[in-house]
Amino acid sequence: MTSGIAAMSNGNPEMQDTRPVSNFLRDQIAEDVRTKKYGDAIVQTRFPPEPNGYLHIGHAKAICLDFGLADEFGGKTNLRFDDTNPEKEEQEYVDSIQKDVRWLGFDWERLCYASDYFPQLYEWALKLIRDGKAYVDDLTADEIRQHRGTLTEPGKNSPYRDRSIEENLDLFQRMKAGEFPDGTRVLRAKIDMSSPNLNMRDPVMYRILHASHHRTGDEWCIYPMYDYAHGQSDSIERVTHSMCTLEFADHQPLYRWYIENLGIFPSQQIEFDRLNITYTLLSKRKLLQFVQEKVVRGWDDPRMPTLSGFRRRGFTPEAIRTFVGSIGASRTNGSTDIEMLEHFQRDDLNRRASRAMVVLRPLKLVIDNYPAGQEEFVEVANNPEDPSAGTRKVPFSGEIYIEQDDFREVPPPKYYRLSPGKEVRLRNAYFVTAQNVVKDVDGNIVEVHCTYDPASKGGNSPDGRKVKSTMHWVSAGHAISAEIRLYDKLFTKPDPSDVEEGKDVLSNLNPNSLEILTSAKLEPSLANARLEDHYQFERVGYFCLDPDSAPGNLVFNRTLSLKDSWAKIEKKAGA
Ligand code: ATP
Ligand code: MG
Repeated sequence: MTSGIAAMSNGNPEMQDTRPVSNFLRDQIAEDVRTKKYGDAIVQTRFPPEPNGYLHIGHAKAICLDFGLADEFGGKTNLRFDDTNPEKEEQEYVDSIQKDVRWLGFDWERLCYASDYFPQLYEWALKLIRDGKAYVDDLTADEIRQHRGTLTEPGKNSPYRDRSIEENLDLFQRMKAGEFPDGTRVLRAKIDMSSPNLNMRDPVMYRILHASHHRTGDEWCIYPMYDYAHGQSDSIERVTHSMCTLEFADHQPLYRWYIENLGIFPSQQIEFDRLNITYTLLSKRKLLQFVQEKVVRGWDDPRMPTLSGFRRRGFTPEAIRTFVGSIGASRTNGSTDIEMLEHFQRDDLNRRASRAMVVLRPLKLVIDNYPAGQEEFVEVANNPEDPSAGTRKVPFSGEIYIEQDDFREVPPPKYYRLSPGKEVRLRNAYFVTAQNVVKDVDGNIVEVHCTYDPASKGGNSPDGRKVKSTMHWVSAGHAISAEIRLYDKLFTKPDPSDVEEGKDVLSNLNPNSLEILTSAKLEPSLANARLEDHYQFERVGYFCLDPDSAPGNLVFNRTLSLKDSWAKIEKKAGA
C-alpha cells in the first residue's frame, strides 16, 4: 500500500521532499503509541462514508489520512459504510465507493456496514433504557425542536422524560415491532436539557422509519441516528483513532457519553479540517442535484470533483495523493487553490504521458515542392522525459494539417508562427516557408501553400539559419478523426456557494465549462489509444481517451492544458 502522505514541504511544489508533512493527527497517534494508551492494540482507523453519493476529492483527503496514518504506524483500516439512512442510500453508491477507494491506491482490512451492527445497537439501547439513561418520547419533531432551546436559552424537559423504565422498554420494543407510524415516537438519550452543548440536550437515538434498507430490507423500521451509530460502530471495530471533519467537534462530548455509559471499547474521535478547493463544490447533496438536474452528464462527468470524474478526466491517483499529502491536516478550515492540484497533476503527467501530435482546429497546409504521392515516416520520441518509452514512426506527406491559430495572413506584432514569407519548423520534420493562401467564396482561408527545404530533414537547420517557431502537424492523408472534449471550471466564482440572495449555486455555473470539437485531426497511432493511457498532445495539453469511445469513433478528454499557473500564485502569496 502507498502512504498518502509522501509529499512536499510548505506546499511548495518546487521543493520536492519525500518526508511526510507534519500534522497534528500524526503527532497525536505517535503520542498514543508512545504512552501505550491502547496497550498493545494496533492503531485501528476506519473510513466511514455514507453510501448516499459518489466520493469526491474531499473524501480523498479523509481516505489518505485514515489509511495513510494507520499504515505509517503499522495499523489497519476498515472501510465502513455508515448506512443508517435507508431513504438516501443505494447499492450503486456502495459499489462506486469501493471502486474509488481502490483506485486511489488503498485496500481495507475489513469491509463493514453500520447496518451489520443494528442488532447490537438495539441491545445497547435497551441497556441504556434499563439504566434509566434513555426514554421514549411522543413529542413531534417540531415540538422536540421547540423544547430544545437555543444557544442562549436552556431547553425544557419533555413531558415524557420521566416515563418508567418498564414503560420505556415496552414502547421501544413496540417501536421496533412496527406498531407505530413514522414520526410518532423517538428514543432519546436522557442527558441534560440545559447543557450549553445542544447536542447533549437529550439527543434522539432512534427514529421510526418504515423504509426498505439497501441491505437489511424490511427487517427494521427503527433506525439509529448518526451520533448513536457512529461511535458505537467505532467501538465494535476497536477503532483507536476515529478521524472526522471539524463540524463533528461539537458532537464529541456525545460520542464520549455513549461510549462511557455503555462501558465499551473507548474509541476516540479527532477532528481535522475539511478540504475546500476554489471553484469547486464538495458536497454529495449538491453534486447529486447536478446529476439529477442534468447540469452535468453524470457522477463521473469529467467536470465533477468526484473521484470518478477526476479519473475519467485523466487525473491519476498518484497526483491526487501527492496533492492531499502536501496540504496536511489542521484544526482550522481553509481553502486550497485548484491550481495547486492541477500543478501536481501536470507534474505527474509530464513524467508519464506519451506524446502525440493532434491538430484541434485544422487548417490544411500544402507543400508545393514536396514530390507528389510521396510519403515518409519520421521517428519521434514517445516521451522525452522517459527514454524507456521508446520511439514511434509518424507519417509525413505533402499535405498536412496545422492549427488555424498557427497561421496568420497578416501577422500581428510579435507573431512568430507561420505567415506569408515566414519560415518555421514542422516538429521533427522540415522547415517550411508559407507562400500563398487559397480562399473560399466568403474569403475564408481553406488552404495555405508553402515550400519546404529538403535539407532540413528531421527539423534540423541545414546551415545554421534559425526559425522562431516549431509547430505540430498531422499528415492529412494519414490523419484519423476524433471528438475532443475541452473542459473548463464548472463555476465562475472561487467560492461557488457565494450566491446572490434568492439564487442557488447553479447561478454560478460556468456556461462554457464544456466545449466539443468535432473536426480534430490525430496522428494515426492514436487509433490504438487505451482508456488507461495518458497523452500529451504536443503544444496542446494533456488528454485521455473517454469511455464513450468506440472503434472508429474516438472521444478524447482534455485533462488539463499545458499552462501551469500555480508557480505564479505561489509567488504572489509569498511576496
Ligand atoms: P458530504 O457533505 O459531501 O456528503 P459527508 O461528510 O457527509 O460529505 P461522508 O460520507 O459522511 O460524507 O464522509 C465520509 C468521511 O469523509 C467522513 O469522515 C468525512 O468527515 C470525510 N469528508 C467528507 N468531506 C470531506 C472533505 N471535504 N474534506 C475532508 N474530509 C471529508
Ligand atoms: Mg455525511
